[in-house]
Amino acid sequence: MKSALSVGCLVRTAIEAVLEYLVLKQLAGKSNVVKAIYSYFVEGASPSSIASELGMSKHQVRGYVQRIVEKAGSITRARAIVKYVVPHVMRIKPVIKPLDGTTARCSICGDEVFLVVAEEHVKRYHGALVNEYVASIIDIIRKEIVKARTEGYRVGEES
Ligand SMILES: [Zn+2]
Repeated sequence: MKSALSVGCLVRTAIEAVLEYLVLKQLAGKSNVVKAIYSYFVEGASPSSIASELGMSKHQVRGYVQRIVEKAGSITRARAIVKYVVPHVMRIKPVIKPLDGTTARCSICGDEVFLVVAEEHVKRYHGALVNEYVASIIDIIRKEIVKARTEGYRVGEES
């Protein structure tokens, strides 16, 4: 049997892992990936309809979904986390601006980077910014949950 504390820590780690992935995508100018993940987990769209709507392959959509499930630990938890965090992630302004189909410019350091490694660039050189967004979104969500409980709604658990 797990204590309430250890379950709490486990969930928090999963939220951080999912959030970091989504924040990196958003900062790297890949908000399409964030949208695809939301459509799949929250709106229940199929990988093929997401793929045609957002201009990616079904294979890519399945890859993003798989990555989120791995980080969240289960599909149920992935759905709950994505629903809570994506609206906040979508408000983040990207720092990587695409120049053409393959290259982009980082608006923080001015470096030109390849689009395929844009997330790595942001993680390696601007990791503090990523951590700041992750921490502030977790803080916002915690307050939302506290507020919902105070108002008498049940959030993700039976009383
Ligand atoms: Zn940079």
